[in-house]
Amino acid sequence: MHDHNTHMPRHVAVIGAGIVGVATAVWLQRHGHRVTLIDREGPAAGASFGNGGVLASSAVVPVTVPGIWARAPRMLLDPRQPLFLRWGYLPRLAPWLLRYLSRANDADVRRIAAALTGLIGTSLDDHQALAQGTEAESLVVPSEYSYLYRDRAAYDADSYLWQIRRALGFHWDELEGTAARELDPALGPDVGFAVRLPGHGRISDPGAYVERLAAHVTAQGGQVLRAEVRDFTHEEGRLTGLRLRGRDGRRDTLSCDTAVLAAGAWSGHLAAKLGVSLPMESERGYHIDLWEPSQQLRAPVMVAAGKFVAVPMEGRLRLAGVVEYGGVQAGASRAPFALLRRNLARTFPDLRWREVTEWMGHRPVTADSLPLIGPAPGMHGVWLGLGHQHIGLTGGARTGQVLAQMISGQQVNLPLEPYAPHRFQRR
Ligand SMILES: Cc1cc2nc3c(=O)[nH]c(=O)nc-3n(C[C@H](O)[C@H](O)[C@H](O)COP(=O)(O)OP(=O)(O)OC[C@H]3O[C@@H](n4cnc5c(N)ncnc54)[C@H](O)[C@@H]3O)c2cc1C
Repeated sequence: MHDHNTHMPRHVAVIGAGIVGVATAVWLQRHGHRVTLIDREGPAAGASFGNGGVLASSAVVPVTVPGIWARAPRMLLDPRQPLFLRWGYLPRLAPWLLRYLSRANDADVRRIAAALTGLIGTSLDDHQALAQGTEAESLVVPSEYSYLYRDRAAYDADSYLWQIRRALGFHWDELEGTAARELDPALGPDVGFAVRLPGHGRISDPGAYVERLAAHVTAQGGQVLRAEVRDFTHEEGRLTGLRLRGRDGRRDTLSCDTAVLAAGAWSGHLAAKLGVSLPMESERGYHIDLWEPSQQLRAPVMVAAGKFVAVPMEGRLRLAGVVEYGGVQAGASRAPFALLRRNLARTFPDLRWREVTEWMGHRPVTADSLPLIGPAPGMHGVWLGLGHQHIGLTGGARTGQVLAQMISGQQVNLPLEPYAPHRFQRR
């Protein structure tokens, strides 16, 4: 009953104005649809505000690599390691965690990495296409992307990841000793090996990027609403509208024939209303922004041991990364910030800055590390675009384009099976 074959413009409500939601809204308008973009806090309120800004096409290997079972408990007990847990959350986390870790085998990792390569392998092009003709265009910056290691032995210890990337067609230079440090004058002696990948990119202000794309939606005749979506209304299994609660607490119904759920880590509640089984958790991440740094990096780098990126941004240098389990309700913890600062001093020992600002946000991570992209199994007219884990900025532009094509009944040039929203349903 999805009208796959009709190209009739629709009224599409997009729920969530993060990168996935705004990219979907922009592409839907380009296909001629009327769009209402809804966010309870306004555009760029979630993970899309504070991420690392890297268009990380090569970040296709999931967290759940073989052997993680053995390493994770030790990492959790060591505050110098970039993995944290709010222990009180463990009972709620456990069922998801077991499903997540059940994918930590070679066959699943290769399947996930191959699927993600299809979605994010051309990220720079996808963002250039998304931002073209909008005020956000100047924030898309082509660049290299380098992974930094203490020495060759540390790189070799990661050989499993690199071998998968090579098999998927990624290529790079390896730089050792002084050559590695010459990548950037800001790097200290702790860096003894680097892997430099061409053909990547960065967004020089992720929050402003999403805001400008949302402003473009308005400029093109769309509506951007600040309201919380509470439920769907339907007749005979077909969507008829959304129930909203405004900032003043006023309840309202928005009529629409199509909706896209793109509410990031908060999507679970609405997915449940659709009868969609959504095993998803937040991998909480942290950033510190160093304003007016004494040196600016030439290009983004990933400090492999600390699992954080350092990325040049407008007026600041951003360090972003770390994984903490603790759900979407609890506020930020102190230990991840302390770790970022310690790693900052080790990696960039001479760097100075005027002021530091801190942020924590929620990466939406499904039990198989793949997003859900496609029609909701439980209600005609509803589509899902969520669960983009650590690569949602990278994959957001393509996801929006793909959803707009699907909703418009067009052929999509991407195998969609791995993203099928029904894959977690009980048979
Ligand atoms: C520290 C950190 C660093 C990262 N670095 C990178 C990186 O370098 N590169 C990369 O590709 N990815 C990175 N990511 C991941 C990336 O940020 C996310 O995958 C991506 O932003 C998810 O986008 P989204 O649109 O799905 O969700 P979000 O950006 O979280 O947006 C969801 C929106 O939905 C709204 N919402 C929720 N519920 C409702 C409701 N009921 N009604 C209305 N609105 C609602 C929220 O207010 C929010 O604005 C990083 C993440 C973190 C935390």
